[in-house]
Amino acid sequence: TKLRVYELAKQLGISSKKLITILEDLDVTVKNHMSTIDEDTAKLVIELIEEESGKGKKKSAQSYDTKKSEITSTKTEDNNKNERKVITIPRKISVKDLGVLMGIEPVKIIKKLMDYGLMVNINAEIDFESAKKLASEFEFDVTEEKEDGQDLLIKEESDDPKDLKPRPPVVTVMGHVDHGKTSLLDAIRQTSVTKQEAGGITQHIGASEVEVNGKKIVFLDTPGHEAFTAMRARGAKVTDIAILVVAADDGVMPQTVEAVNHAKAAGVPIIVAINKIDKPAANPDRIKQQLADYGLIPEEWGGDTIFVNVSAKAKTGIDQLLEMVLLVAEMSELKANYNCKARGVIIEAKLDKGRGPIATVLVQRGTLRVGDGIVAGTSYGKVRALFNSRGKRIKAAGPSMPVEVLGLSEVPTAGDILIAVSSEKEAKSIAEEQKNLQKEPEYNTPKKISLNRLFEKLQKGEVKDLNLIIKADVQGSIEAIKQALEKCSSDQVQVKIIHGGVGTITESDVMLASASDAIIIGFNVRPDSNAKKMAEKEQIDIRTYRIIYDVLDDIQLAMKGMLEPEY
Ligand code: GDP
Repeated sequence: TKLRVYELAKQLGISSKKLITILEDLDVTVKNHMSTIDEDTAKLVIELIEEESGKGKKKSAQSYDTKKSEITSTKTEDNNKNERKVITIPRKISVKDLGVLMGIEPVKIIKKLMDYGLMVNINAEIDFESAKKLASEFEFDVTEEKEDGQDLLIKEESDDPKDLKPRPPVVTVMGHVDHGKTSLLDAIRQTSVTKQEAGGITQHIGASEVEVNGKKIVFLDTPGHEAFTAMRARGAKVTDIAILVVAADDGVMPQTVEAVNHAKAAGVPIIVAINKIDKPAANPDRIKQQLADYGLIPEEWGGDTIFVNVSAKAKTGIDQLLEMVLLVAEMSELKANYNCKARGVIIEAKLDKGRGPIATVLVQRGTLRVGDGIVAGTSYGKVRALFNSRGKRIKAAGPSMPVEVLGLSEVPTAGDILIAVSSEKEAKSIAEEQKNLQKEPEYNTPKKISLNRLFEKLQKGEVKDLNLIIKADVQGSIEAIKQALEKCSSDQVQVKIIHGGVGTITESDVMLASASDAIIIGFNVRPDSNAKKMAEKEQIDIRTYRIIYDVLDDIQLAMKGMLEPEY
């Protein structure tokens, strides 16, 4: 008798998204299409849809209300007949939601709570036990909502501060092509390898650990901001610190700027490594001047960005760079709980002929142990073996540690969240739930911002910032649009230009928009075909213009909720 949102949507032949909007109109709050709804609500929706199609007219909010009160009154009659109904509620529920579930006016519930000596308002949350007691007064039996597997994968549990211990920083190296990202990573790995290990084969697992002054630093082996933002777009926050590599003989280039903005949008601190300092043409001061334009101001000029001169080739400045990483890590107070079930992110995954699916997991919380049940996306299993970044077999891996995991049923996708559960059986059932979800066409299409939805989101208080990415044919236009748009900020909404660049709209821009819930504005430029495809998939709003005034006009109208939809 209990239905998932997507099941009912299927029955009704409408999209889950539409159903969720209808439910919202009915004051029934559901988390996503996996959420369950009770029979009465389902019936109500079915009636409404039938009525709607019968009349062939758009439903007005008023008739929802009429319907609702009809149902409510029949329910009250039922109650009088002493028929106890069963409702399913989560561990915590608001007075309002409980009222909706029971079909009873919140006022009555609040009165009842006052009888218990509790003064609460309609939005107050009450715990399961109180809700149960209360519901029983209204002749309802209560069962507890079981957590969806998906919830488990999405939800970040919060830790008691006293359980938190320091963890090593995770670092990504970013910068323009050929500025020396790969060389720098190599140099870092080499300087930190002990003599004993030097002869051995260093295995590539997607991340490496180095030790400086007895402290660990973890490096992600894939350089570049694209990988970094792609992970973030999938919901995985992995990097704590970004090292921005700029070649001293070349200067700030388009991808340097992109990297800066991608790191900033993620709120990740940046350390600048001025590379190729061994070259005669090296001019570190010029780099500092150029980067100052993007808000990266060196300490000696009164800013707070750390700059280090390095040469990946001559291996100079590497130790100093690593010390600075530790310094920034210390200031960031990176901590994690070591004593709980593990949760991590898939960094890399492949199929090995002999050993089956192999995934590199960066553990972010808890400790992953051999024998744990694990699930990542639709892949599940039991940890058969763990290997560290040096290829050594280990029994357990704690926070910030990259490990190779053997024992998954299929190859997961980079960016997937991996969680450890009590048994392989539980892992399997969560993975199956994920599989069902993926059959849903609505899967992976979270509600992204668009100019048309801006006003609605503003009113609901869902957004406070309007994040924009501006691409244009010339730098001058970007500046002009930026200045004009930033003036549009109002009390309710802050217009933020998170990235501006010259050239066509690329996949990288779409990724950033997806990760930062931003809208892309193209001025005299268009998206390339890959960007177009990705924007469709990620539901990113791309608007192109030829006249600056039109950009301003649209943004201002959108902020007032008066923008005509684009067809
Ligand atoms: P990436 O594209 O950013 O990963 O750059 P690479 O690491 O592939 O380096 C690009 C080129 O610059 C290669 O030919 C390197 O040998 C060279 N290179 C990298 N670092 C240095 C350096 O510190 N000094 C000099 N002279 N050349 C370097």
